Amino acid sequence: MKKAKDILKKIKSLLIQSGKKIKNTLIHINVHVLSRIVLWIAAVMVIIALCVVCFYKPARNAVLVAVSPEHHTIVDVKSGDTLSKILSAQGFSIRDINTLSANLKKDADFVTLRAGRDKFDFIRPSEHEPISKIIIENGPWNRIEIDCGTPDTWQCQKIEIERDTRVAYKQGEIAKGSSFYLSALDAGIPEGIILDVYDLLAFEMDFERDIRAGQKFYVLYEENFASDKKVDNGRVLAVSFDALRGNVKMYRYVKPNGHAGYYDEHGNGAIKSLKRTPINNAKITSKFSGGRKHPVLGFTRAHKGVDFRAPTGTPIPAAGAGRVIARSFNRGHGNFVKIRHNGTYETLYAHMSKFAKGVNVGTTVRQGQIIGYSGSTGLSTGPHLHYEIIKNGVHVNPMTVKLPAIDNLDAANKKMFMERKAQLDATINSLHANPKQIVRLTDEEKTQNQTQKEKK
Ligand SMILES: [Zn+2]
Repeated sequence: MKKAKDILKKIKSLLIQSGKKIKNTLIHINVHVLSRIVLWIAAVMVIIALCVVCFYKPARNAVLVAVSPEHHTIVDVKSGDTLSKILSAQGFSIRDINTLSANLKKDADFVTLRAGRDKFDFIRPSEHEPISKIIIENGPWNRIEIDCGTPDTWQCQKIEIERDTRVAYKQGEIAKGSSFYLSALDAGIPEGIILDVYDLLAFEMDFERDIRAGQKFYVLYEENFASDKKVDNGRVLAVSFDALRGNVKMYRYVKPNGHAGYYDEHGNGAIKSLKRTPINNAKITSKFSGGRKHPVLGFTRAHKGVDFRAPTGTPIPAAGAGRVIARSFNRGHGNFVKIRHNGTYETLYAHMSKFAKGVNVGTTVRQGQIIGYSGSTGLSTGPHLHYEIIKNGVHVNPMTVKLPAIDNLDAANKKMFMERKAQLDATINSLHANPKQIVRLTDEEKTQNQTQKEKK
């Protein structure tokens, strides 16, 4: 504005002057002003164009149909789309759609479309010719090519996208007042991998109660790339957590028969379980039932556990590793101990004559650690152990409930496991020292499956 005013001022002062000089000067100034205006308009237009490019976004859920000069029609799958909806929009008849969808299922394992991710490419040899080829990007690792030569012989071919699996290492620490979940997210661990870690460590620790600020953890896991672009995450290969009971490490290992599992540093099955019968070889004297006649009360009452014959003073071991959440007395159970094993399982031991030394509320116990001694306290007709398993707050039958399997390695497998463990540890150290390097490990599963096939 100031500049414009100055220019006007200049013109005014010049107008006062007279003769040719004035005319010439005016022409000179007009050219000057004009070029400035043109420059300003150009600048404003460039800014508007930039704004449009930066802030314009197509409406969500809109069908994005782009026809490129090569006569490709790209259709992004949106929510509510079906194969027939998309094909009929491209002019396919119901008969053709039925044949094509049957062929897709038969020849290309086509299952379902994923909104926001899958894509169709309808290809025509030239703009006004019928579609000759369809390419469906179905799932992150599937590409289906359909040759539309003659309608009845749709040739569907499944092309697997080459997967480049790299190894990622992330480490973190529980922040003050934070949860494992949030601290792991802060460490850059993807959500799906965090959930896998939860499942792996659930029998070792309680993610609600055993978390303290400063506990360190790390995860080694797979990331799958296609043409240098990350597509998804693979499996957890190793995990470490400084739990209350001490450091817990787990490694993934695939046996020569192709079965994969997680094992601790010594090759013991890392997925710990609960014992259905805490006291070995104890005879069951009363089963779990929804309703039975109570021997003392005389009326029908559900028996929420299993009774094992156990002479007074028989040591009662913990059915699994966990934390004591109750060590108390009530009229029904007498002296009892309740252990929380993880976010899912709790066990209860009743009618004890006495508790084991050092077992208090809050004590963490190992599997097999003696927590008390059998007796006949509470509503009981004779010395026995009354044992309950509570899964997600509901009493379940200890003899039939599905529990995670314990899988230990034999000597030959243990030797191979130790080699794999050394390889994973070396990878962890290397990535810890230089997080930016690209590391690829031999895919154990692939190698083992290959050996299996060759044997056959
Ligand atoms: Zn009982």
